[in-house]
Amino acid sequence: MRQIRSQETAPELAVRKILRDLGVHYRLHAKELPGKPDIVCRRDKQVVFIHGCFWHLHERENCLDGRLPKSNTGYWHTKLRRNVERDKANQAALRDQGWRVLTVWECQLKQPARVRARLSAFFGLANPPKTKPPGGRLGPPGGKSDS
Ligand SMILES: [Zn+2]
Repeated sequence: MRQIRSQETAPELAVRKILRDLGVHYRLHAKELPGKPDIVCRRDKQVVFIHGCFWHLHERENCLDGRLPKSNTGYWHTKLRRNVERDKANQAALRDQGWRVLTVWECQLKQPARVRARLSAFFGLANPPKTKPPGGRLGPPGGKSDS
């Protein structure tokens, strides 16, 4: 039995875990919306797409996966370009309908803390508490510590 395209990709699960941690309530794969966004927060009209770098052609210099394969380049160029155009059209349609759109790329999940910060900002959550200044030197300058 062949499995039909999995809806539970690793990047998606990683994002969902972050959202649960942040306490965001969401729905998955809203089929009635353009592009079937992976994460949908209906109350605030926000959607998140989680894109595989290869399939959605993540064109960033530091992204190794978002490049056209060296062989069969013509075929892939057409196919992946079409994906990218469709992504653009879907996101434009969503924005026209008043949705805010965030895209999380697979490669960004190598730094989950940064993705978490972006999601937290996107969903308008309070910033996580700032860490204390390094070194813990909070005493007055020249002050003596009890010893
Ligand atoms: Zn990437």
